Amino acid sequence: MLQLDDVSVRYGTEVALDRVGLHLPDGQVLAVLGPSGCGKSTLLRAVAGLEPLTTGSLSFDGADLRRVPTHRRGFALMFQDGQLFASKSVAQNIGYPLRLRRRAKAATTARVEELLDLVGLGGYGARRPETLSGGERQRVALARALAVEPRLLLLDEPLSALDAALRERLALDLRRIITASGTTTLMVTHDHEEAFAIADRMALMRDGRVVQEGEPAQVWANPVDAETALFLGYDRVLEGVAARTVLGAAGLAGEGPVALRRSALEVAADGPLEAVVRSSRAAPEVVRLVVEIPSVGEIAAVATTSEVAPGPGLKVRLRVVGDRLAVIGKNATAGLVP
Ligand code: ADP
Ligand code: MG
Repeated sequence: MLQLDDVSVRYGTEVALDRVGLHLPDGQVLAVLGPSGCGKSTLLRAVAGLEPLTTGSLSFDGADLRRVPTHRRGFALMFQDGQLFASKSVAQNIGYPLRLRRRAKAATTARVEELLDLVGLGGYGARRPETLSGGERQRVALARALAVEPRLLLLDEPLSALDAALRERLALDLRRIITASGTTTLMVTHDHEEAFAIADRMALMRDGRVVQEGEPAQVWANPVDAETALFLGYDRVLEGVAARTVLGAAGLAGEGPVALRRSALEVAADGPLEAVVRSSRAAPEVVRLVVEIPSVGEIAAVATTSEVAPGPGLKVRLRVVGDRLAVIGKNATAGLVP
């Protein structure tokens, strides 16, 4: 179990990590999610022992890590770009950490085969990295990181270099592989979908601080503030009378602020809200609208394509889809569906 208390890292006067506390139980996957520059890589480097702590404490299974050098920590670190050896085969890349530790040849070969199967690349051992797709290369890098059975796997934006479609698929593969190997994992990323796909728990970071921590569904349903909600992919945050209008239409009491996904308002003949369509645009599964609602203003809405797409100027009625909004703040009640 990894434990960080009050960990700060400064570069000169710049505070990269500001009193960070984190707790990662054995076998779990914790994703630290935050925008570029918020201190994610610094956090991983500090845990790996590549960056000295300015203050705070860091322990694994109760043992203080601060004087344990990187190579003695038993952790593995994997980066965005995999960093494979171009001149070595896939099998040589995966077996490299084992050869470094002078494991017997037969044991190394067997372990490499096992890892190739684990990451779904059975039969790829003789290939060179340049003959692989980006996703395959990242799976090789993951196999290499897992080769010596690290007690903690550290992943720095492992999927960020891949294109969107591949990223989504590999995120699920990554979760399956990590879970199958039972490896305790700390991942950092700026991509909320990646974090949601992979993690058991999430910590949101901003300006070197952890601003929220919890299970992904719980974080999603109850962002701690507006900035967090927008970072998590909510489209708008409403306050005051606009928030009350939407919450009321959803059958919810409360003052807001309330965060809405782009699809939180949906055209429905018996919906409680009246609106005028300002613009409409067909998307693959829905028609995306901008509508004007009295006391809310202009806001995104959707119509399902089975209906006739309402054009500009048309009056429509809207319903609020309860699980596509989140009431913001500490005391908010989360995930209410009327
Ligand atoms: P992230 O990985 O979230 O993008 P980083 O941990 O790389 O963020 O950086 C956090 C902050 O610390 C940034 O403001 C960055 O400019 C600064 N920083 C990172 N590494 C160094 C360094 N070696 N020297 C000075 N400043 C650094
Ligand atoms: Mg980084």
